[in-house]
Amino acid sequence: MIVIKGIAASPGIAIGKAYVVEDEDIVVERIEIPKDKIREEVRRFKTAQKATHRDLDAAELKVLKVLGKHHAKLIDAHRLILKDSLITHDVPKRIMEEGVNAEFALSEALEQVNRQFERMEDEFFRERRHDLFDVGKRLLLHLMRRQKRSLADIDEECVLISRNLLPSDTLGLKETKIIGFATDLGGKTSHTAILAQSLEITAVVGLSDVSRRVRTGDTVILDGEQGLVIINPGPETVAKYEKVQQRSEAEERSLETLKGLPTVTLDGRAFRLEANLDSPEELKSVVALQVDGVGLFRTEYLFLNRAEAPSEDEQAKAYTAAVKALEDREVIIRTADIGGDRLSMLGIEGPKNETNPFMGLRGIRLFLRHLDLLKTQLRAILRASLKGKVRVMIPMVSAVGEVLAVRRLLEQARAELAAEGVTFKEDIELGIMVEIPSTAILLDAFLPHVDFVSIGTNDLIQYTLAVDRINENVTHLYDPYHPAVVRLLDSVVRTAHAKGKWVGVCGEMTSDPRAVPLLVGLGVDAMSISPRMFLRVKQTIRGLKHDAMKRLVVKAMACAESDEVRRLLEQTP
Ligand code: PEP
Ligand code: MG
Repeated sequence: MIVIKGIAASPGIAIGKAYVVEDEDIVVERIEIPKDKIREEVRRFKTAQKATHRDLDAAELKVLKVLGKHHAKLIDAHRLILKDSLITHDVPKRIMEEGVNAEFALSEALEQVNRQFERMEDEFFRERRHDLFDVGKRLLLHLMRRQKRSLADIDEECVLISRNLLPSDTLGLKETKIIGFATDLGGKTSHTAILAQSLEITAVVGLSDVSRRVRTGDTVILDGEQGLVIINPGPETVAKYEKVQQRSEAEERSLETLKGLPTVTLDGRAFRLEANLDSPEELKSVVALQVDGVGLFRTEYLFLNRAEAPSEDEQAKAYTAAVKALEDREVIIRTADIGGDRLSMLGIEGPKNETNPFMGLRGIRLFLRHLDLLKTQLRAILRASLKGKVRVMIPMVSAVGEVLAVRRLLEQARAELAAEGVTFKEDIELGIMVEIPSTAILLDAFLPHVDFVSIGTNDLIQYTLAVDRINENVTHLYDPYHPAVVRLLDSVVRTAHAKGKWVGVCGEMTSDPRAVPLLVGLGVDAMSISPRMFLRVKQTIRGLKHDAMKRLVVKAMACAESDEVRRLLEQTP
C-alpha cells in the first residue's frame, strides 16, 4: 500500500479501479511548405480555428445544462484565447514568414507563451496556462484530424489518474463513469479544482508523480478531505474507507430533517446560521436549505472573466434577484474583493508581477483607487435595497480612513439616486470584514463608524500566521486552531460586543465542523457557511453546550500550540 499526499481539491471519498490516462504526447513535425502552398496552409489553420469554435459552442451547451451560466464563462475565457492575436495573428504570420506547417507554427507560438507563463510568480496566472494549452491542444488535434479521446467512452466506474486534467475535460465528467480524479499537477485555485467542487466530484491534485505510480486496474482510494491517494490499499483500509463513505452518505440523507429547525445549542444559545453565496446559480439551493440569510455575497464573479466592468443595471439585477429570493432574510453584499488570486481582466489591478499580490492592491484598496467602480456598485446595491433586507460589507479593511471614504461615497450615491428620483432604503447598514490583524487589534477605533463586523478567517489566518493561503508549500502552517488565532477572534468578539455591535464569521472556519465548537464558545452572533456544509454545521451546533464551549475557549487561549487546541477539541463530547 502506498499513500501519496497532495492537495484536497474537492471533498468526498472515492474508491475504485484506476484508469490512467497516458499523457497524449502530440509530436509535431516541422515541415517546410512550398511558397505556392502557403495560402492554403493558412486557410487550413483557419478551418481548424472554426472547428475549435464549434467545439467550444458544444462545450458551452453542455456546461449550461450541467452547471449553469456562471461556469459557462470559462468557455468565454477559452473563446477569448482563441480570438487572441497570438492565435489569429502570430500563427499565420509564422506560417507565412517562416514557410512552415500550421502545426509547427502553432506549437512554437504556444511554447513561447509557455516560457512567459513559467516565469510568472503568481500562481493564479501560472494556472491559467492550462486554459491556453487546452485551446492549443484542441486546435492541434483538429489540424492533425485526430479526435480528442473521449472520457465518456470509459464504460466501467473508475477513478481517473492523469498528469493533468484540462478544465474542458472536467466539465464533461458528470456524464461519465468517473467517480473522482487525481492529478500530478494543479492547485486549489485552478479552474479544474473549482469545477470539481461544483460538480461534487472528489478530487486530489498536486500529487507530483501519481500518474507514474499508479497503473490502470490498480485499486485506489481518493480521500478528498485529507488530500490523499492510497494505491493498492489492504482490505482493512478499504473496509475502513467504505465505512467512512457509507456513514457520510447516510449522514447526508439524515441531515435533510434539520432544514427549518432552529440553530440552537443544547443549553439554549441561538446562532444565526447563514450561507455564503459565490454565484447566482447557488441561489436556489441556498433558499432550499432554509438559511437565516446570506452572510457573504461574494460579488467578484460579476467582475471576472470579462474585459469590461458590469454596468449598474446588470449589478442591480443580480443583487435584486438574490435579495428577492431571500425574502425578508438579510443579504450581506460585499463590495468586490478583486486582487490577490482573484485577478480580473479589467486591467485595473496593480502590476501583474506584484511580488506579493495578497498584500497588494486588493479589495477596498483597489476600489478606493477606482471610485467610479465602487460608486457604481454601491448605487446598484442601494437600488436592490428596497426589495428586502440588504447590508453592505467592505473587504480587506486595514484603516479607519477606508471606512470613512466608503461612507462618504455611499452618501454621494444616495444623494445622486435621490436627485434622480430613484427610491432606496435610507437606513442600510454598513459593516466591515475583519481580515487583517491591524483591524482586529484596533477594532474599538473602527466600531463608531460601522454597524457590524464579520470575521473573514480565511484571510485573517493567512495574515496573522504569515501563511499564503494558496501556497501548497506552507499549507501545513495554515492553522485555524493556532492559539494566536483563537485569542485574536476572542478579542474581536469581546470588543464588538462591548460596544453593542454584532459579530459574524464568514471564512471557511465556519464550514469545518471540527472548528465550529470554538466559534460557538467564542459567542459569535452569526456564522455564514459554504452551502454544502450548512446542515452538517447546524447539526454540530445543536449537539453542543454553549457553556462547555466557553470553557473550552478559555483553555484554548491558554495553549501554546495548535496541537493542544486540537486535542481539546477532540475531547469535546
Ligand atoms: C475570508 O477571508 O475569510 C473571506 C470570507 O473572504 P474571501 O475568502 O472571499 O477572501
Ligand atoms: Mg477574505
